[in-house]
Parts: sequence; structure tokens; C-alpha cells
Amino acid sequence: MRINVHAGHNPAGKVACGAVGLINESTENRRVKDEVIGQLRQMGHTVYDCTVDNGTGQQDVLRKIVAKCNAHTVDLDVSIHFNSGAKDEKGNGSTTGVEVFIYRTSDITRAIGKRVADAIAALGYRLRSDKTSLEPGVKVNPKLAVLKNTKAPAMLIECCFVDDRDDVQLYDYRSMASAIVFGIAGQRVQNAPETERAEEGEETPTGDRKALYRVQVGAYGVKANAEAMKKRLQKAGFDALIVQA
Ligand SMILES: [Zn+2]
Repeated sequence: MRINVHAGHNPAGKVACGAVGLINESTENRRVKDEVIGQLRQMGHTVYDCTVDNGTGQQDVLRKIVAKCNAHTVDLDVSIHFNSGAKDEKGNGSTTGVEVFIYRTSDITRAIGKRVADAIAALGYRLRSDKTSLEPGVKVNPKLAVLKNTKAPAMLIECCFVDDRDDVQLYDYRSMASAIVFGIAGQRVQNAPETERAEEGEETPTGDRKALYRVQVGAYGVKANAEAMKKRLQKAGFDALIVQA
């Protein structure tokens, strides 16, 4: 597929930035957006990042996003947002949840939007619905600028609420992104072979790579404390090595 992805709003702290609550929309939607783009590209899809960081105001941000989207011929436009207005900073034990907006019911966004909403709900988020919902978690909204003015089928994802402690406690940008990618592509990214081997505890040769990534569990001023940690690791089945720096 060819897909446009953008994070809504200007960056955090600028004019026309996103909602601020326990987490910051403009920070998190960019994290999610980067991860979504990375995973989709890893699967072989062509993805354009249409995020705007320099809008002079809300309307200008929207206008620039639409212009970037329409500069590419794609199968799908994806807008990533976080919602606000739950006013549940303390947490009441249940999430306010996820909703996906689509422009019309007659294109691919109906099925994809539902799959995205369901994949996010599978992380533990409530599917938001009211009488305007097409089905739980999916709403048609022909007025939203990025849905109305983009050429390709478009959807806007309100991942979860920035001002609901239950939503925020559940939130992790990687799992949120993976759910969105599953909704769009119908599959999940395969782990890179090195990742799988690392999870098995195996080392991978550095070959001609420039970096070597060390896993370190502690640094101690007293050698006996280092020895104690080494014993604990060995007892737990890990090889351990004390290095003096
Ligand atoms: Zn937003």
C-alpha cells in the first residue's frame, strides 16, 4: 500500500499544539506516528510523513497537512490524535477510550477504521460510541478538515485520552502504534532475526558494524556490592562479568 501518515497539530509548546493533560498530545502523537511509519515501512509499504511542525495557527496547520497529503497519490490518509475532555486525572478504574473518525462509509476506511479501533480496544481501551457511531469505536464525520479536504480515503484516530489516568496508565506508544499498524495492514511486524536471538539470550557477532550494544545492570563504588550483584545474576541463570572502569 501507499499511505500518508501524520501527527495532528503543531509540536508541543508551539501555537496550535495539541491537547495537554497527564500526557501531551503533540509529543505522543509524534512518537506513535514515527513508530507506525517505521513498522509499515518494515513491512514494505510506501509511507509519507505529512506531519507539519511550522503552522502559524490551527487553520494553517490543517491547510499545510492537507497540502502535504495531496502531494502524493496514496491509498489511505491516516491522522493521529489523542483526545481530551475526560477530566479523569485521578482515574476511576475505566478508560474513556478510543474512537476513529472516517469521512464516508463507502471506502476502505470503514473496514480499516473498525479494525484499528478493535485493535486498540484489545489493549484494554473502551470503544467509544454514542448515537452518531456507525459501530462501536467508529464515527462518520464529513466536517473534519483533514478528512474532507484530502483526496485519498482518510481516517482520523483519537488513540485515547490525555486527561484520563486509566487511559494514560495503559498507554505505551509502541503497543498503540502496533495496534494501528495491525488495523491498517492486517498483520503485525515480524521481529528482526537479531531481536529474536537476543530474546533467547544469544549474542550476535558485531561483524563490521561500528556499534556494540552492552547490557549493563549496575555500577558500584564498593567491589563487594558488585560481587553480590554478580552472584545474584548467576543464581538467576545469567552470565555476569565485572569490569573495572
Ligand atoms: Zn488532536
